[in-house]
Amino acid sequence: MSVRYDDFDKLEVLTRITGSLVNKTPLRVGVGREPPLGSAVDLALLRIWFADGRAKPYIPGNSLKGVLRSLAESIARIQGLSVHDPWDFKVAESEAESKNYCVICGTFGSTKLASHVRVYDAYPEGEAPTFVKTGVGINRDFRGAQPGVLYTEEQVVPGVRWGFKMDVINIRVFPEPLDERGRLLRQVIDMLVKGMVQVGARRTIGYGLVELKDGRYEVYEVKGGAFVKTSEGNLT
Ligand SMILES: [Zn+2]
Repeated sequence: MSVRYDDFDKLEVLTRITGSLVNKTPLRVGVGREPPLGSAVDLALLRIWFADGRAKPYIPGNSLKGVLRSLAESIARIQGLSVHDPWDFKVAESEAESKNYCVICGTFGSTKLASHVRVYDAYPEGEAPTFVKTGVGINRDFRGAQPGVLYTEEQVVPGVRWGFKMDVINIRVFPEPLDERGRLLRQVIDMLVKGMVQVGARRTIGYGLVELKDGRYEVYEVKGGAFVKTSEGNLT
């Protein structure tokens, strides 16, 4: 039996996954190479203003989703499935024409198919202290350290808790996955719980390692015309 992936005409099952992401190593989700106006550091953190008039660092949902997608891609590759570039418009178009979507697009979407996964921005649950690290600039022409060229970059200290929330639409992940997309998502969530996922910059030196703490799932389904919670549990 083939599973339809373009099933957004009706909502059958919604799984909400929540918890706290804790960064075990310094974390920086930056604003690119361009420092914001008036910024004292070259590579500043992305911040969002809160109602109390303070700006705090945050991890945008789309960067978290991007991390989960590439994780799912590497798991799929290990399983021998063919994986294509998310920005390969030709593949996205031919998948849409044949209505035969790959597992990754069937989960995370493509330019032609909406995503079954929604990841919300992760805001600090308390304070998110930062520090500024000075680095030696790399000369791009000679691929080596260029003496005297310094830059500064802002990082969030380890041990900060970030509120995590993710919705999965029309894919059964809990209590038991129903198709290969569900099984793939279970593996991705499992890696988050085990603290094997990195977000943000400087991943090659181990930065941005996060662990999902106090993870929970709730499954909602339409029953008799109403949306009801059909199962819930802890992520272990
Ligand atoms: Zn695809």
